[in-house]
Amino acid sequence: MIIGTGPAALMAGTFLLEAGHKVTFYEQKKAAGRKFLVAGHGGFNLSNSIDQEAFLAMYDREEIREMVQAFGVDELVRFLAKIGIPTYIGSSGKIFPQPHIKPIDVLNAWLDYLKKLGATFHFERRMVDFDANAVHISSRDNIEVIRYDKLVLALGGASWAKTGATGAWSALFREKGIDTLPFAASNAGFEIDLPETVTLFQGQPIKHIKCYLGAQEKYGEIVLTEYGFEGAPVFYLNGAFRKGNHQLRIDAKPGFEAEKIIALLKQARNPTEGLKQLKIAKPLIAYIKYKLKKEEFLDLNVLSRFLKEIPFELKALRPVEEAISTVGGVPFEAVNHDLSLKQFPGIYCCGEMLDWDAPTGGYLLQACFASGAWVGKGIK
Ligand SMILES: Cc1cc2nc3c(=O)[nH]c(=O)nc-3n(C[C@H](O)[C@H](O)[C@H](O)COP(=O)(O)OP(=O)(O)OC[C@H]3O[C@@H](n4cnc5c(N)ncnc54)[C@H](O)[C@@H]3O)c2cc1C
Repeated sequence: MIIGTGPAALMAGTFLLEAGHKVTFYEQKKAAGRKFLVAGHGGFNLSNSIDQEAFLAMYDREEIREMVQAFGVDELVRFLAKIGIPTYIGSSGKIFPQPHIKPIDVLNAWLDYLKKLGATFHFERRMVDFDANAVHISSRDNIEVIRYDKLVLALGGASWAKTGATGAWSALFREKGIDTLPFAASNAGFEIDLPETVTLFQGQPIKHIKCYLGAQEKYGEIVLTEYGFEGAPVFYLNGAFRKGNHQLRIDAKPGFEAEKIIALLKQARNPTEGLKQLKIAKPLIAYIKYKLKKEEFLDLNVLSRFLKEIPFELKALRPVEEAISTVGGVPFEAVNHDLSLKQFPGIYCCGEMLDWDAPTGGYLLQACFASGAWVGKGIK
């Protein structure tokens, strides 16, 4: 029995069905894989083909690294091809389904494959309790107690509740004395107090910059929002923020030494023109003018040094509900190597409900697929 129909649940089911087991899925929503489909809206980035060392470095836990090594990009691409979903490698190694294939096509192809292997799906069925032998499944009319041989829980994290990822299961776990860690936002925007002269540029991208937070750094593009910044480098640096680093520094011209910047600024009519010629984004120019005194702004030595290290005080991460993913949930210390719960060895956990972290860019989904595969292969 599998509870949930996200990518982790479906991959666990895939391996179990292929091994000849009988599998029944229960899902509280009306349809399968709602968060999987949401992930598809902004480009369906299923995994990433960067080199293995860099790939593994994206994960914060050795346990999840072991799983993505056992079921990695190649295995995923082969599996998708098998169910009729050809993929291609996009920019920065991202793996996408071929452009004509929509997220719902991927999901439907997968569900059809599982049904052909004999899977049964029950929707609008919520697991409200479980013990070592049976689960309590609530529907509109009643609560059924259903016995299982093995139970796979792939209940998701705690963001985007409307997709079913409410994190409500953690209360049930705590009632049973199973350790869970509080959820925290990951892959969330940074909240920053910014003056109106800057926020009026909201929605504008700030391209080709390098962001530094604590010991971490990331090159890329961020976007100014009504509350602060979002974008790949921001998401990548979430972990550094949660470790207590709140002073973000932006290098607005990473390829240029301060001396080169001074030389270029000197050729311009005035510093503002010079910054424009250097292609510094408008929100950054406005912020620099807000932070520097007039005489500092006119001093090209000060200005060029500032450009290499523009400081921003981060207030908070956006709320958990808005985050792309969450950390927290079931710690690896509460599960065995096969991801069965130490307290309930016949019950397995996989996907985002486990406490691991990775940036977006396909790494989240790959870890969900891989941990599902790990559970599916581990059940004999
Ligand atoms: C906006 C957005 C964009 C994203 N983009 C990307 C991306 O580009 N690349 C990437 O790698 N990842 C991305 N993600 C993250 C990715 O979608 C998730 O990490 C992934 O879906 C988690 O999979 P999962 O199987 O663990 O859980 P989920 O997909 O959340 O599935 C859990 C399922 O369990 C069901 N469930 C929970 N409790 C119960 C219960 N008690 N009874 C019955 N059913 C229950 C839920 O209804 C849900 O269907 C994105 C997420 C969001 C929100």
